[in-house]
Amino acid sequence: MTKSDTISPLTSQSRSLVEKGQKYFLPNYKPREMILDHGKGARIWDADGNEFIDLGSGIAVCSLGHSDPDLVKALTDQANKLWHTSNIFFTQPPVDLAEQLVEASDFAKRVYFCNSGTEANEAAIKLVRKYAANNGRTADKREIITFTGSFHGRTLAAVTATAQPKYQEGYEPLPGGFTYVAFNDFDAIEKAVSDKTCAIMVEPVQGEGGIVPAHPDFLAHLRKLCDKHDALLVLDEIQCGMERTGHFLAYMGYANAKPDIVTLAKALGCGIPIGAMLVGEKAEDTFQFGSHGSTFGGNPIMCNVALAALKKLRSPAVKQNVTQKSEKIFATLRALGDELGMFEEIRGVGLMIGAALKPQWHGKAGEITELCRQHGVLVLVAGPNVLRFLPPLNITDEELETGMDRVKTALKEYLAQ
Ligand code: PLP
Repeated sequence: MTKSDTISPLTSQSRSLVEKGQKYFLPNYKPREMILDHGKGARIWDADGNEFIDLGSGIAVCSLGHSDPDLVKALTDQANKLWHTSNIFFTQPPVDLAEQLVEASDFAKRVYFCNSGTEANEAAIKLVRKYAANNGRTADKREIITFTGSFHGRTLAAVTATAQPKYQEGYEPLPGGFTYVAFNDFDAIEKAVSDKTCAIMVEPVQGEGGIVPAHPDFLAHLRKLCDKHDALLVLDEIQCGMERTGHFLAYMGYANAKPDIVTLAKALGCGIPIGAMLVGEKAEDTFQFGSHGSTFGGNPIMCNVALAALKKLRSPAVKQNVTQKSEKIFATLRALGDELGMFEEIRGVGLMIGAALKPQWHGKAGEITELCRQHGVLVLVAGPNVLRFLPPLNITDEELETGMDRVKTALKEYLAQ
């Protein structure tokens, strides 16, 4: 496929598979009409042989691209040894992974493993309530503050923490005790927090909400308020953590923002389902035997892959690549914005970048990314008005240039329509 080519139409075989999926899946997703088949690095191919540059990494998951040989080896080595034992027994990979996560963070003492982001947040929501209860505040210190535009997952508590009504409608009654405050509003949070607050939960860089970084002083402000009111600071780093911003955890790019809890998932397993809750000293004894659990949490296969991923993601080569490629994407999008006049703002940190569309293109992000796909590049949306770029952290110059050229072609075609 040359750079300006569009992809070929679905073959009848792929079409019938798409139709089967549309018939048998609950319609809570709307997958693009193609069958993705295999990948290598930042490239991914469909079953009809079309090639795509993946600038979305499966929504911030495949941070080392596709089919990374070290991850494949970690997966197959462990698959050939032992798949699952439950948490009634120790195995080596989760023990080593917990140690390495604690060492990589500058606050955590202990780790709880689960299978997804929403479960990590569910664990955090339970833990902060339990922490208050253990301190004799069972009835009057239940409130958890979260922020407008946030996204914390889909379980009932996590979707209640998610301060966006569109995700909550129809699921009432929602669990009580959640309060929403405008993101990055220093005065509003100061007024909202009280001795009834048991935790503040925040994404250092909002992802689904449109790629919106916390103001440089906002996390420190939250830290101070939490200390003043004996509340726990929970950072949801499920999308922005694991080196995506150029820091192991995004808060490490902020001053005085040490959390009590960090939740992780997505790139922790680079494509294998795993979530984690990292807990600092203050709350490390909150969960005791029987307080919480998960059958699959800490599964040795997931943890062995995550160990290999962690080692590679934290390498100087990947860190350097994040900085270099971030600069390139910002520069390309800014130049494209100047040329085409479509963008209001290019924002983000590291390789978590959003191109916010000007008002005349509001609501069009989905159409635009579909046209990108037809030109051989996978780009995400973050809401209806923002194009979201989350490429693999080890994307090469050639992959990125090819991908961004295809984005440019698609945008020009969109404007010419
Ligand atoms: N928190 C954040 C910041 C996320 O971006 C997501 C998913 O997009 C979640 C939580 C939920 O994670 P999962 O889909 O693995 O449950």
